[in-house]
Amino acid sequence: MLRGAALRVTRPRIAVLTAVYDHPHADTDSIIGVVRANHGEVSHQAIYDVLRALTTAGLVRRIQPAGSVARYESRVGDNHHHVVCRSCGVIADADCAVGTTPCLIASDDHGFAIDEAEVIYWGLCPDCSTAPST
Ligand SMILES: [Zn+2]
Ligand SMILES: [Zn+2]
Repeated sequence: MLRGAALRVTRPRIAVLTAVYDHPHADTDSIIGVVRANHGEVSHQAIYDVLRALTTAGLVRRIQPAGSVARYESRVGDNHHHVVCRSCGVIADADCAVGTTPCLIASDDHGFAIDEAEVIYWGLCPDCSTAPST
């Protein structure tokens, strides 16, 4: 994958890419934790740099719901959406409502050439919606 994106294959890049694949929607701190658990000490800065390079190359997608830190995932290229729990912040994937990318067709595009729609569904996850309120 790295070679396909014209990125040099380095151990930190492989480690970070693997972590993102294994832990969809993980934030940077979680990714750092996973990388370090599997590969020993890797600097914060190195991991930030790798995440930026992978995101720029399109190998990982960066999402950042309002009020959340940035999350990363390996599911790229399908413009899927996300459901986010208002209470615990857990994130799940949500496919486009119908077909492939119907959300790109805005009811009024104001003359813009639209190439992306970012939709976030907010609510309570099953765990939080059944938890007794304290
Ligand atoms: Zn929740
Ligand atoms: Zn996702």
